[in-house]
This record gives sequence, C-alpha cells and structure tokens, in this order.
Amino acid sequence: MPGVLVTGASVAGPALAYWLGRGGWEVTVVERFDRLRDTGQNIDIRGAGREVIRRMGLEDEVKAAGTGETGTEFVDEDGRCVAYLPKGHDDSGGLTAEVEILRGDLARLLYRRTAHCSRYVFGDEITGLVERSKEVDVHFAGGARESFDLVVVAEGMTSRTRRLIFPDAAPRYLGLCLAYTTVPRIAADTDRWRWYHPGGGRAVMLRPDPHGTMRAALSFLSGAPGPADLPPADQARLLRRLFQDAGWETPRVLDAIDASPFYFEAVGQIRLASWSRGRVALVGDAAYCASPLSGMGTTLALTGAYILAGELLTAADHRTAFARYEALMRPYAHNAQRLVPGFPRIAHPRSRLGVRTLRAALRLATSPPVREAVHRASALFPRHPAERIDLPHYPEPR
Ligand SMILES: Cc1cc2nc3c(=O)[nH]c(=O)nc-3n(C[C@H](O)[C@H](O)[C@H](O)COP(=O)(O)OP(=O)(O)OC[C@H]3O[C@@H](n4cnc5c(N)ncnc54)[C@H](O)[C@@H]3O)c2cc1C
Repeated sequence: MPGVLVTGASVAGPALAYWLGRGGWEVTVVERFDRLRDTGQNIDIRGAGREVIRRMGLEDEVKAAGTGETGTEFVDEDGRCVAYLPKGHDDSGGLTAEVEILRGDLARLLYRRTAHCSRYVFGDEITGLVERSKEVDVHFAGGARESFDLVVVAEGMTSRTRRLIFPDAAPRYLGLCLAYTTVPRIAADTDRWRWYHPGGGRAVMLRPDPHGTMRAALSFLSGAPGPADLPPADQARLLRRLFQDAGWETPRVLDAIDASPFYFEAVGQIRLASWSRGRVALVGDAAYCASPLSGMGTTLALTGAYILAGELLTAADHRTAFARYEALMRPYAHNAQRLVPGFPRIAHPRSRLGVRTLRAALRLATSPPVREAVHRASALFPRHPAERIDLPHYPEPR
C-alpha cells in the first residue's frame, strides 16, 4: 500500500489521515509542536464541511463538544445589547453557526479517530525534500531520513514546507491583526458571542466555551502585518497600549493576555496558481486559507481533505488525483475567499460617527421584519458559499 507523509496535526492533516487510512494507506503525520495543540477558539463547520463530518460518523461527537453559543450580540460600552442575531438553524447559516466547536476540541476528536491507524510524530518537521522518480526522500529536523510515495502539507497559512516547493508563496495580508486568549468566566457572562466596537479601528469579543471559561479576542486594523512577528511580550505591550482606553470588558482581556499564552495572527489569505508540485500537495489553510473573516477555514480543510483522499484512492495515479482535487476544490475555495466588500474595515470603525453608523446598520439588519424579508427572499440568492460544491461520493474501500 502507498505510504504518505502528512505534515500538520490540526484539522486538514488528521482528516486526510482518516480517509487515506480507511482506504488502507500507510499514513504518517508529523506535527511541529511537541504535542497536539489544544488552543484556538470557536470555529464553524458549515455546508459541505458538515457533510464530511457526517460521512466520518463524527457529527454527534462534534455537536456534543459544541461551545453552546446561542447567537451573536453587538453591545455598547455599558454592555447593553445594540443588535442580536440568533444562531443558524441549518447546515450553513448564521454568524453563530449551528455547529460551533473549539479548534482544539475538533483537532482532538480527529486525532482520536485516527491515532490507531496512523503513525503520529510530534516535535519534528521537514527540513528537506528530494523528489525521485517513484518517491520523495524527506529530511527531518530531528535528523531522520525517510522515503514516502507522497507528501501532503497541511501546515496552515504560514507553512514552512510550502516554501520548499513554492518559494514565492506568501499570505495576502488583509489589514487586520487578531489576538486570541482565554479568560475566567464570571457570573455576568452569557452564552452569546458578544462583540464590542470601541472605535479607533478596534473590536473586542467574548464567546462562551464548554470548559467553564470564556474565549476572548482583540482585533485591530493595522497597515502592516509586522506585529505578528514581534516577541509575545512586545505584542502584549502593544495590545495594552492600543486597547487601554477601550472600555467595556477589555481590562479583563488585557489581564489574561499579560498572564497566559495567547495566539496572535496577521489575518491573511493564501492564493496559489497550483496546489501541488510533483509528488507533494497542499491541503487546508496551507493551500487556500480564506482567513477567520470568512468563517470557512475549517469547512475548506475538511472538504479539501475528503476530496484529496477520495481522488488519491480512486485515480490511476497521483498526477490525475492532484489535478482532479484541484479542479473540484478550486471554485469552492475561490468563493469562500470572497469577503464582504469593505471587510474588515467596516467591522472596525475608527470614529464615533462610524461606530454610531455601524450600530444603526446592525440594528436595522437584525430587526425581525428585515430578517423575515431576507429569509423569504433567500431562494433568490445563490447558495451559501459553504454549499457551493457537489461533494462526490467515493466507493467504500474494500
Ligand atoms: C493554534 C491554532 C489556533 C487557531 N485558532 C483559530 C481560531 O481561533 N479561529 C479560527 O477561525 N481559526 C483558528 N485557527 C485556524 C484554523 O484551525 C484553520 O483555519 C482551519 O481549521 C484549517 O486548518 P488546517 O489544518 O488547514 O491548518 P491549521 O489549523 O493552521 O493547522 C496547521 C497545523 O500544522 C502545524 N504545523 C505548522 N508548521 C508545521 C511544520 N513545518 N511541520 C509540521 N507541522 C506544522 C501547526 O502546528 C498546526 O497544528 C487556528 C489554528 C491554530 C494552529
């Protein structure tokens, strides 16, 4: 049976390992971190991504591990509700999707589902790839050398191995930096995603999780992605300086950032002319990151892993499989990367007038008559981006 090396043990990597392992392939997953990363915040699983989870027989477990978020609420400086949107009640809709789970919890479920049939190696990464006629020789940072029939890179937006095959590939920065952390839950917290706009091109968010804590995020417009490269202590200082006068629950979030590890990213997308070279292919954020602003990253990763595995298991050779994977996934990824015009600027007003205007627009857009009219007219709109693919059915492995 073919042997494949998958790099990255988050969502796309273990999902690919599941489908290939089910087809009898020998799968090795190498993860740069020394353990399964359990950080990260609420991610949505929509449309085709949800169907993939269903076909994996994981839907009930994913729902049981859900965050319990009931909807999205925009609040003012006193915490009063400005506008409210309940969560979606179908496979794809809603700012809060029907299926919301923490990234780390999903990664753990996928890992558990695959650990018995794949070899996981933590704390190592690829440093060199040499392609031969029938295999790829791989050099690892830990010193090992091994050969595989194929290599699939599932290392996320800032993938290093991608640079070995596409040296010019770089994220397309979207003008926003985001910091995520976890804060203790207090009695006044709710099960809504609360979203506060203090002005100055900033936003503060609090969301429930199923572990008795709250997930918090600070985002701010920034002309350059540079802050993402600063050491964590400098990032924490920058966040305190930028958000010290923001009001609402912000001091709680800044205290958590000072006290515990946080995740900081310059929000971007990956757009590449090709997703494979020779015997090496890309999947998930490494190939077509749509950014957290799209709400589609995890859905793309699950769908891409399913299609890539399905094509590899059924095509005559890897070249055909990579070409068919790309033909099926490219329009879907392209649609997912199309953000609302003006985003993220319109969601991060700078002036007081901008904040008042945004709040008035949100109040109007979430009012029952407007929502009812949008619902009635929805048949006239194209399908939700998460549904704009006809997910192939691949034969059951023998
Ligand atoms: C720690 C973390 C927190 C996140 N938090 C959020 C969030 O709060 N909200 C949100 O919308 N999205 C978040 N994401 C992104 C989200 O998981 C992805 O958009 C989506 O699920 C697609 O997943 P992926 O598997 O393609 O990539 P990712 O989830 O980015 O996973 C990539 C994996 O590859 C590993 N890796 C990186 N480089 C190497 C290497 N050289 N060798 C081996 N392994 C490597 C990483 O450690 C990671 O485990 C987070 C990702 C990570 C890694």
